[in-house]
Order: sequence, then structure tokens, then C-alpha cells
Amino acid sequence: MVNENKVDAFGTSDIKDYNKIIKEFGVSSMESLVKYMPNPISLYRRGIVFAHRDFDMIIDAMEKQLPFVIMTGIKPSNFFHYGSKMIVDQLVYLQKHGGNVVFAVADIESLADNEMPLEKAKEIARDNIIDCIALGLDPDPKKAIFYKQSKDLTVLKAAQVFSSNVTNNMMKAIYGEHELKIYNAALTQMGDILKPQLENGKTRTVVPVGFDQDPHIRLVRDIARKHNFIPPSGTYNKFIGSLTGSAKMSKREPEGIIFLNESAELACKKIKKKAFTGGRDTLAEQKQLGGQPEICKIYELYEYGLIEDDKELEDIQKRCKSGDLMCGDCKEIACNKMTAFLNEHQKKRKEARKIVDKFLK
Ligand code: SF4
Repeated sequence: MVNENKVDAFGTSDIKDYNKIIKEFGVSSMESLVKYMPNPISLYRRGIVFAHRDFDMIIDAMEKQLPFVIMTGIKPSNFFHYGSKMIVDQLVYLQKHGGNVVFAVADIESLADNEMPLEKAKEIARDNIIDCIALGLDPDPKKAIFYKQSKDLTVLKAAQVFSSNVTNNMMKAIYGEHELKIYNAALTQMGDILKPQLENGKTRTVVPVGFDQDPHIRLVRDIARKHNFIPPSGTYNKFIGSLTGSAKMSKREPEGIIFLNESAELACKKIKKKAFTGGRDTLAEQKQLGGQPEICKIYELYEYGLIEDDKELEDIQKRCKSGDLMCGDCKEIACNKMTAFLNEHQKKRKEARKIVDKFLK
């Protein structure tokens, strides 16, 4: 059977069918859990966070107010874009519901995978953390810690110890064929994810990621069992597509990305000139047949957070499908919403910039 879903933690992933992923990779659907979450944000309500491993354990901790950790890492290789915001929105939600954030700057990974010098990685990581704070992450050291892989002895030692738990064949089976430095970066991530338990004993931990990062979750759960830790939970979000309609939002195609530090004018230009829509060839046809939000990148922006209110989203969908809303007007709405978001976000970035260095080790 041809496997049409391709998942590669260190390369290009191509996921065509998220329903199939659930069966192929043995993860659980998120759908039945959402009703147990307190005030879930739209990413959960709309099935954009579509699957999980053991997330019920984290919902239980939220409900009983038990401690839990939200582990996240950024590979500081570029500035944050609208797709990166999805992970931060989840961190903010989980932190507000009692989790403590442990935030790794994955500079060893960006050195191995992108040949990014450690000093340069530091600058980009700082900018990424400014975005996180501006998006609502509370940097109070009681609720969040930030560290760099290359400076953290717990993580570096753990990577060495864990290397005795894996074989070359196992790494090849999980990650595919790679150079040693990539396998080393993967083992360093194992140290990151287990750092809270290595330092404080058994701790419920959740790692929100895009599905391309599932190989890390599978490996760390295996290592955790071998070392008698709680296997970390994972949640998986879908990828937001590039505005142009080709694959996921990625730095390889800047015209299809909206960066969080770019001007509203530039973002609107991309929305108006580059976005692939579900519109018809002529206005008359669109009025008669309606648009196709299911393939439209403007609608995807709305769905992935530009419109948080479900009722408003439903209304846009109805008006699109009935031929009442034309793409030009719809792009204008998207541009206004993106402008409001970016202007506000950039104001908050200015504030975050003033305090960020206090929280970075
Ligand atoms: Fe997309 Fe809006 Fe056009 Fe519908 S009206 S296809 S949602 S741009």
C-alpha cells in the first residue's frame, strides 16, 4: 500500500489525510476530549489540534489542579509567523489552566540542522520569546523557565545517558537516515522533554507540537518508560497552509507567510495579491455557485485564529457558500482583521522587548 502521509521530524513532511494519520501512527483523536477541557480555545474546538497521546492525563491535572509541565522548544532558525502562533496560543491556554512552561531554546538543533551559529541562534530565540510574551505567555519565573540547550547540563548529560538506550537501527527507523549530529540533536531533545522529571521527579508533562514532531514524542515516551518516568503526553496540531496554496506555511516561501514582526501593509499585500482562494472564475459564477471555503487560504486564516468567535466564522462560511460574499470583500475583511492583530501585537512586542532579558538565563 502506498503511504501518502510523510512525517519527517528533520525534513519535509507532507500530510494529506489527518484521519488516516490517527490510525497509521496509533495516536488518539482529540475530538472526544475537547468537551472535558475548561473553555477550550478555537484551535481545540475546531479540531486543528486534532490528535494526542495521553492528553487525558493533563486534562485530569487541570481539573484537579495538580501540577503539570508544558514542555516546548523552539529551533531558533527564523522569526515567528502566523503558523508559529498556534503553538504559542496552546502554551498560553495551558499555562492559564495551571501548567508551568519549560521553554528550551534548541540551539544545538539549529546548529546541527541549519548550521546556525549559537550566537545568531540566541538573537532569533530572543525575538521568538518576545513574540511569546506579546501573545500572552506569562514569563514570571514561577510559571515559566527559559533555557538554552547548549548551556543546560541536565539536558546535555541526559543526551549522553539516553544514547545507551537507542541503537542506530532504532534511530533510523524513527527518523530515517541522517548524519550523527542530527541523531545527537534528537537525543538532546529527549533531555529537554525529560528535564522536568530529571530535576524534580515524576511530573505530568505535555508537549504541544505539529505532527511532524511525533517521532520525538514516540522516542521520548520509550526512553521515559525505560527510566521509570511518566511518558510525556503529546498534542498534535494540523499545519496552516502557505497563503499561496502550496504546502504548509514555511520560511522557504516568504510570500506565503505572514511574519508576526512584519508591517500590516505588507501582510495585506500578501493577503490581497498572493492568497489562493476558493473563489470561482467570474463574479456571476460565484454568485450562482458560491465559493469553496474548504480549499480557501483566506478562510483557513480565519479558522486558524483570525476569527476566534465560532458564530462569526460560521456566518462567513454561510455567506461564502451561498454566493453572498465575494472574495475581494472577504480579503478586505481579512486584511482589516490582520491589520488590527498585527498593530496590537507589535505594540505588545515593544513592551515585551523591555522585559525579556530579565527572564533569559
Ligand atoms: Fe474564500 Fe472568502 Fe472567497 Fe469564500 S468568499 S472563497 S472564504 S476568500
